[in-house]
Amino acid sequence: MSNPFHAGSGSGSSQQAAGIGMTSQRTRDRLVELLAQLSPLDPRVLDVMRQIPRHLFVEEALASRAYDNVSLPIGHGQTISQPLTVAQMTSALLQGPPLRRVLEIGTGSGYQTAVLAALVPEVVSIERIGALAAQARRVLRDLRVRNVALVVGDGSQGLPGKGPYDGILITAAAATLAPQLFEQLAEDGRLIAPVGSSEQALRRFTRTATGLHEERLGAAHFVPLRRGRG
Ligand code: SAH
Repeated sequence: MSNPFHAGSGSGSSQQAAGIGMTSQRTRDRLVELLAQLSPLDPRVLDVMRQIPRHLFVEEALASRAYDNVSLPIGHGQTISQPLTVAQMTSALLQGPPLRRVLEIGTGSGYQTAVLAALVPEVVSIERIGALAAQARRVLRDLRVRNVALVVGDGSQGLPGKGPYDGILITAAAATLAPQLFEQLAEDGRLIAPVGSSEQALRRFTRTATGLHEERLGAAHFVPLRRGRG
């Protein structure tokens, strides 16, 4: 698999050679230990988060806070999601049969995208703000993440042309989810999204042979899902 974060890919040394994030390995390990204490999380997700240099997804002035369990501003009124949220959403998405292709709605910084790309063969991610998508593209390219297709546009109704998806992960909150999103979900596919306006809850919808199964995963605090291009 052409992904630099896959365990056993031997890319650790090339990352080291490029000087990417090696100085922060200990702070990253500490963050992951904290996350594991806070919530039951998939060990595969924790492994990946131990490797991905989150500080490269925020501006330099905020890099020293990149391994705190907090969301941070990324410009344009948007935020990089809190590490615990990324870990919980990704863990919830992985539960079930293996994922081949996943759609992320709301690329933002591209950090969640990188986490997904290390775990899933094919990731499609859509972002409505062109400048954020361009920055995410640069970081993912520098990290040699090659199994991601980034699209600029409104993903509030998904991206039907590239579906169906085994997983859909929405990183912005909508009061209601467009029915088209569920149509793009393959059988056994999971959709994870924060739903609500003033009060949000993280929800998982699983497509079964007989219909959709819905679970509430907990409270959430996300920026709103907006319509149209940014
Ligand atoms: N996963 C990202 C989260 C960024 S915040 C990260 O951790 O960095 C949510 C993102 O969703 C913002 O970048 C916002 O611009 C984007 N967004 C909001 N509405 C959208 C829509 N309709 N289509 C695509 N992206 C959208």
